[in-house]
Amino acid sequence: MTPAVYQKCIHPACGGTADLRDTHFACPKCGGLLDVAYDWNRLPVPKALKHFESKWANRTNPLDFSGVWRFRELLPFAADEHVVTIGEGQTLCQRTDAVAKFVGLNAGGLFLQYEGMNPSGSFKDNGMCAAFTHARITGASRAACASTGNTSASLAAYCAATQLMRAVIFIGSGKISYGKLSQALEHGALTLQIHGDFDDALRRVREVSAKLGIYLVNSVNPFRLEGQKTIMFRVLEAMNWSVPDWVVVSGGNLGNVSAFAKAFSELKHLGLIDRAPRLAVVNAAGACTLYELCEKRGLRWRNGAFDRAAVDGYYAELSARGAKADTLGSAIEINQPVNLPKALRALSCFGGVARAVPDTEMLDAKAQVGAGGLGCEPASAASVAGVKRLVAEGVIDKDARVVCVLTGHLLKDPDETVAYHTADKATFDAKLGSRGVTSVSFANRAVPVPNDLDAIVRAIQSHA
Ligand SMILES: *Cc1c(COP(=O)(O)O)cnc(C)c1O
Ligand SMILES: [Zn+2]
Repeated sequence: MTPAVYQKCIHPACGGTADLRDTHFACPKCGGLLDVAYDWNRLPVPKALKHFESKWANRTNPLDFSGVWRFRELLPFAADEHVVTIGEGQTLCQRTDAVAKFVGLNAGGLFLQYEGMNPSGSFKDNGMCAAFTHARITGASRAACASTGNTSASLAAYCAATQLMRAVIFIGSGKISYGKLSQALEHGALTLQIHGDFDDALRRVREVSAKLGIYLVNSVNPFRLEGQKTIMFRVLEAMNWSVPDWVVVSGGNLGNVSAFAKAFSELKHLGLIDRAPRLAVVNAAGACTLYELCEKRGLRWRNGAFDRAAVDGYYAELSARGAKADTLGSAIEINQPVNLPKALRALSCFGGVARAVPDTEMLDAKAQVGAGGLGCEPASAASVAGVKRLVAEGVIDKDARVVCVLTGHLLKDPDETVAYHTADKATFDAKLGSRGVTSVSFANRAVPVPNDLDAIVRAIQSHA
């Protein structure tokens, strides 16, 4: 008899499986991606989502305090004594009318799911606690990742806080914000700077992990995505268990959208929701593989039989042109997303769409998120910029209820924010013009004032 929890190839025609404890994170038959699979008939599942509210009464138990493990009956791959938590997932889903207005939605239509509130400041902690839990089951002593910054910050924080494993971090020579790098260094991770971009770093970390038996925590690891499912559980909870019309998220390695889709598939399968939202993924224009393949070239999941040659062909074109991913949204500066097949499946199951936004629109959307009261990093704001486009196109109805996931905290990348708000046009063009950003709409410049009371008073009054 198959066990109640195992790993299963995402390609229905393949049927490959792997043991729960396997750490290769590739199908043994076809090399494809794996899902964590559950035989729900043999697992205790609550009858209604309202059940999870009862956990709030039990917050002194760290497993019930965690915004991930509170939902552990919906990611039941570990016994309680193996669960790793540092208090992740205490996040907020905030209705934000000022930003709704900016994107063209009616008041009450836009909700921002603020994952910057996690211990390391990004949504990555949702997945890291699940990966650490799996690593603990397998007895691993070292963990590695390639990272544009937030995965390494999260890995380093979990290693430091739990002392369960030692961290090895691969960063490329592309952009990494100082906020994120400082976290990796401060938490004591071994940090290797590879000459190459993120895609190169990821290839190397997979080789090295296999060679040295180091536990891999990139989002090719399906256990991370189990933890990331809970972002959607918390969204539903915040909406009193009603289902929004759209969930919109920025796309890098496409782990989040894959996790969200798995969450909704399972909730539907279990009869815990009766309809699912549509999904939208927003790439940066300078790293827009999903958008290019799905929206421009018509790539579809086709129940797993998607056109791989079209994907390989596109990657070959990019490398023939010497095109590297390039965006100020450094967290989504990725041209070869490892979870592309899962994202294709997600879009096909949930009426999904992909869009790409230029950096100018991303930064303007970010400034509007900030003006609305929550701060996020550039990559996160691609979601809001994407909603603005989708509303303008008529794809999202202006009276729809839309959730944008803000993936990372404003303070991850203060350099970009200060550059946006303070630079005069010439400085801005010099710094950012090479990336096609030549103007910004919502700059809030610091006002120089002489050290003189009257002048200060005049300056304040003229800004009344
Ligand atoms: C990792 C990350 C992303 C991309 O998420 P994927 O799941 O890889 O698509 C987006 N925003 C931020 C802030 C991130 O750290
Ligand atoms: Zn397979």
